[in-house]
Amino acid sequence: KKYGSPAPTIFSKIIDKSVPAGIFFEDDKCLAFRDISPQAPVHFLVIPRIPIPRISEAHDDDALLLGHLLVVAKNLAMKEGLDEGYRIVINDGKHGAQSVYHLHIHVLGGRQMQWPPG
Ligand code: 5GP
Repeated sequence: KKYGSPAPTIFSKIIDKSVPAGIFFEDDKCLAFRDISPQAPVHFLVIPRIPIPRISEAHDDDALLLGHLLVVAKNLAMKEGLDEGYRIVINDGKHGAQSVYHLHIHVLGGRQMQWPPG
């Protein structure tokens, strides 16, 4: 499958375990690990194993994978005890303040969030 600018990122090294991360969930399609710079008491990332650079470069036929990432994110949020709610974020590109170009879902919780975000 072709994605634009598939430059390897640090997340590829987390996937192949050449760089340690707090991986606490893995299946055949994705993994989840602790954000290195947590913005909330609970802050983890769910990423696909295939290096889709950003959500805007996902294909229509990635729908099943994208849905899977969301289901994993909400199941892990429950396991992490976020029963009072949480926030799911996907940053895309420059205006979205994306910094790592390997698609990832942020899950943040354990404190009161504000809306709108900055
Ligand atoms: P973005 O700004 O692209 O949406 O989010 C990238 C996230 O990845 C940031 O929250 C950042 O703290 C996290 N991050 C960047 N490098 C690493 C790393 O090497 N390990 C881990 N665990 N998280 C990282």
